[in-house]
Amino acid sequence: MKVYIAITISTLLLLIALGSYSLLDLNKNEAESVIGQEVRWEVKEKESESRFSSVPILLYHDIDGKGIYSLSKETLRIHFQFLKDNNIKVIKLSELIKSLENPAPFHEKVIVISFDDGFFSMYTKLLPMVKEFGYPITLFVYTDNVYSKANHNITWSKLRKMEKSGIQVECHSMSHADLEELSSGKLEIVQKKLFQEIYLSKRIIELYMNKTVEYFAFPYGRYNLKLIDYCRFSGYRRVFSTAYRSNIITRDNYCLGRGHIKNNYSLDLIKKIIE
Ligand SMILES: [Zn+2]
Repeated sequence: MKVYIAITISTLLLLIALGSYSLLDLNKNEAESVIGQEVRWEVKEKESESRFSSVPILLYHDIDGKGIYSLSKETLRIHFQFLKDNNIKVIKLSELIKSLENPAPFHEKVIVISFDDGFFSMYTKLLPMVKEFGYPITLFVYTDNVYSKANHNITWSKLRKMEKSGIQVECHSMSHADLEELSSGKLEIVQKKLFQEIYLSKRIIELYMNKTVEYFAFPYGRYNLKLIDYCRFSGYRRVFSTAYRSNIITRDNYCLGRGHIKNNYSLDLIKKIIE
């Protein structure tokens, strides 16, 4: 039975790959118009940046307290409790996207929380805390980091369990390559690599999770306009960098910023990022 499922999934992936590769060749005129729209976010317009119309997205990684991007469970709990004590509402990423597409100010301070990579601590430490606090979370995974069967790694079945409890799974490439560096190589190699890293990874998650994947987070937060075009043509609704900027709901940007939280940040600094 397992062999049959594996063969079926492999066949599906192959068919998708063959059918989609040619579709992802960018049409030049369309690409130019996309670039024209994309540069809008660099134009600093004078919209209201009140705290109710500006939505920060926090970005975390591992929860084992090792390394600058990994918080201890206790510190993460302090952050989660801080949000609760200060009436800051954690909303789903999809709610933020809806408000960007049809702008209307929120009636309270809201934020979005995301985690990148898909460490095992997402299952052992984040999941219980999500159940306790009831916060919706977006987890961007790269598919090479998700196992079919493993005791101390994230697996597809663990991800499916996590999604049922409010941890939404989205895409963070296939191998976590630096896509900006990769995109400057030889055209044929670049086309094949981007197809795997941006499009095929999306389809793999969709098949294993039985859902539509709409969001892509660039590995290391590194991107350029070519990559943004590629994501658009691969069917992503929005993409995410690691630029420290809040997201103003009257600016319908395609690439949204996220505040990368390090383990030496004080609560005062977190507060500044949120406000
Ligand atoms: Zn990452």
